[in-house]
Amino acid sequence: MTTIGFIGLGNMGAPMAHNLRRAGHDVVVCDVNPRAVAELEAAGAQTAASPREVAERCGIVITMLPASVHVRAVYLGDTGVLAGVKPETILIDSSTIDPQTARDVIAAAHAKGCQMADAPVSGGTGGAQAGTLTFMVGADDALFERIKPVLAGMGRNIVHCGGPGNGQVAKICNNLVLGISMIGVAEAMALGDKLGIDAKVLAGVLNTSTGRCWSSDTYNPWPGVIETAPAGRGYTGGFGSDLMLKDLGLANEAGKAAKQPVLMGALAQQLYQLFSTQGHGGLDFSAIVNLYRAGESGNA
Ligand code: NAD
Repeated sequence: MTTIGFIGLGNMGAPMAHNLRRAGHDVVVCDVNPRAVAELEAAGAQTAASPREVAERCGIVITMLPASVHVRAVYLGDTGVLAGVKPETILIDSSTIDPQTARDVIAAAHAKGCQMADAPVSGGTGGAQAGTLTFMVGADDALFERIKPVLAGMGRNIVHCGGPGNGQVAKICNNLVLGISMIGVAEAMALGDKLGIDAKVLAGVLNTSTGRCWSSDTYNPWPGVIETAPAGRGYTGGFGSDLMLKDLGLANEAGKAAKQPVLMGALAQQLYQLFSTQGHGGLDFSAIVNLYRAGESGNA
């Protein structure tokens, strides 16, 4: 089996790298955080001192980094991945970043003669641990077929979204809908409560009517409606509000670059920015409902 390099061993990357090991791959890991590296090493992974060394030693390199600036540094820096690649090396970036950076880095990889795909994920840390992530892949047809079995070691749904950058396009458009729909459900639940309807009754009506959506029927932000949702455990765990703020920012920036209006997305971004400024960026993104609830933390 091809040795796989994995760079970026955070909340998502560490469990993904563990799953690749469990799928039988030799894995070489790298992170600027020595503790994250030591944890993978203890589980049997090899380590490398730099992204360049990872690329020198591996046939496939996967990155899972916080944001565009880190992806540029890890691929294009002096000790970066592209300084160590061979023409046959396959590169996969699973970070959530703006589509233009993805396309720029992929073009730089092509200039080195190697192939690269963008493959951001949804499914959160739970999906990363369980190996049930959805991968949204931007790659040509032949590259998609080659990387599909590798991604299947970390995920359940591997979706080909088109050419380079289109995985990121799909990811930021999905999270644009998610951020807006969560705020819409939060606003409606709070209004209903103020007007005197029981929250479970209202949610039941929404979920059998045209207001139904994932933010309402699976992840309802109102406490007491869905016990397994973050609203049932003080909005801990789940998908952080600051991550939603980041993804809405990516959608707005992409809209600006494309001269395409993102009106609701801009308002949603501002609401999450307010929430984050108030110190709640670490709470699950459904906690945005507290902007509408008098007396709750996050009440505007
Ligand atoms: P994280 O901050 O927990 O992990 C990022 C890791 O990258 C850290 O271990 C950090 O030390 C490492 N890193 C940063 N710069 C580096 C460098 N120059 N060289 C090597 N390592 C470096 O982030 P995360 O939650 O794992 O998210 C990773 C990506 O996945 C982000 O783009 C995020 O938007 C996306 N994402 C996250 C979730 C989620 O629920 N956490 C869900 C879907 C997508």
